Amino acid sequence: MTSQKNKYYLTTSIPYANAKPHLGHAMEFIQADTLARWHRQLGDEVYFQIGTDEHGQKLFEAAEKAGAELLSFVNEMSESFVQLARDLNVDYDAFVRTTDEHHKKGAQALWRACEKDIYKGTYTGLYCVACELFYTSKDAVEGMCPVHPNRALEELAIESYFLKLSPYQDKLIDLIENDEYRVFPDLRKNEILSFLRNNKLEDLSISRPKSQLAWGVEVPGDDTHVMYVWFDALANYITGVGYPDEPEFNKWWPADLHIVGKDINRFHSVYWPVMLMSAGVTLPKALYVHGFINAPGGVKMSKSLGNAIGPDEILERYGADALRYYLLRYIPHDSDGEFGLERFHTVYTADLVNNLGNLVQRVASMTVKYCDGKFEPIVEVRKPKLTGLGDAGFDDELQAIWKQLDSLNEAIDKSEPWKLAKTDLTATTKLLDNWISEIIQLSVSLTAFMPFTAEKIHRIFSDGRVDMRSGMLFPRIEKED
Ligand SMILES: [Zn+2]
Repeated sequence: MTSQKNKYYLTTSIPYANAKPHLGHAMEFIQADTLARWHRQLGDEVYFQIGTDEHGQKLFEAAEKAGAELLSFVNEMSESFVQLARDLNVDYDAFVRTTDEHHKKGAQALWRACEKDIYKGTYTGLYCVACELFYTSKDAVEGMCPVHPNRALEELAIESYFLKLSPYQDKLIDLIENDEYRVFPDLRKNEILSFLRNNKLEDLSISRPKSQLAWGVEVPGDDTHVMYVWFDALANYITGVGYPDEPEFNKWWPADLHIVGKDINRFHSVYWPVMLMSAGVTLPKALYVHGFINAPGGVKMSKSLGNAIGPDEILERYGADALRYYLLRYIPHDSDGEFGLERFHTVYTADLVNNLGNLVQRVASMTVKYCDGKFEPIVEVRKPKLTGLGDAGFDDELQAIWKQLDSLNEAIDKSEPWKLAKTDLTATTKLLDNWISEIIQLSVSLTAFMPFTAEKIHRIFSDGRVDMRSGMLFPRIEKED
């Protein structure tokens, strides 16, 4: 009998390629990569997709502002996300770009599949004549253009295609309520359910006339319109695995998990499932919604406030695993969290240098000193037991692992092997064998979170002989003034 592997298809959201990546993008990449690696360890066949969203008005504006040609601007921004993924050791299988021909064709196929619910109507919005752009009431500052503070936005009506949402409203409430489309954590599920129960869904405007904005995927059958950027972008989750007619599509779809930030929950728990229901495509199985990273004190992090920290400066100084560790452990998986350099440095020194790093270092050195570097190879390495990861409980799992590290460090202090070795070498050897076994097992659990570190520990303790050539796990780093 052959054992069938489970397939596991997961995606991040696709960041909007109008600026370089920030810490929030890094966190989403890391969360997804951790889940992908964990599922691979469990023996699942994993397909892990990331990408960039490259159409729409804001991108068009950003390129103009940068004085760059549109496509080269988009290429550069998209490359910066590829680079970030590489720097974070994110082991993805596919990177979708919405400017790819294959994606555009797939998005058009999705549109055609939704056609019975699509009609042409009039979209009324707030318009700045100078910008030649629409703004939402959220963007508008007391009715004025956010770019031209002296210019009042005016209501303007344009032709637009709309997608009917209300025919699917009751069904959607059912699916989310019963976890057939599982939205978690509960806070996010309840937020969406309460929105759906208390509002009648308005039809969604899903196109713009090309005369307003030409940078997008053309509406099939009408070359005077392009798709609204969200319709095009959401389609990436299916076009990336071959929608509509490549054989891989049936293999991978439905997605097992989408990971997104709380600001785009509604796009993924309302608009996306309705688009799929309309098109007769199966819904994804689950949606995990994470929170935001704020500056210390809960203040919003932003370039204009000067308190933004980019992932690059942390990566250069502390390395990928240190950043992965902090974001997974100290940004709560079910709410917003905070990030500051001071706290990051303290955590790095306490948890990584003094705890995990020191533990491995001293057990390895004692084995060299008392046992000539030899230890009894471990008989069986178990698979990681990280059941909490099914609920994205990165923080809880890491906390539990660090509790075990604490216990190990305490056990070593208490047994004082440096004294014991003078009188009873057999007992000392036994203790060291035991500790090494536990460290190896912990490193198996750490693999998904901190792949470089786990690999290094594995190299130090393999084949029954300690090998310390790869150096310390975490060098002590001086605090920057
Ligand atoms: Zn304006």
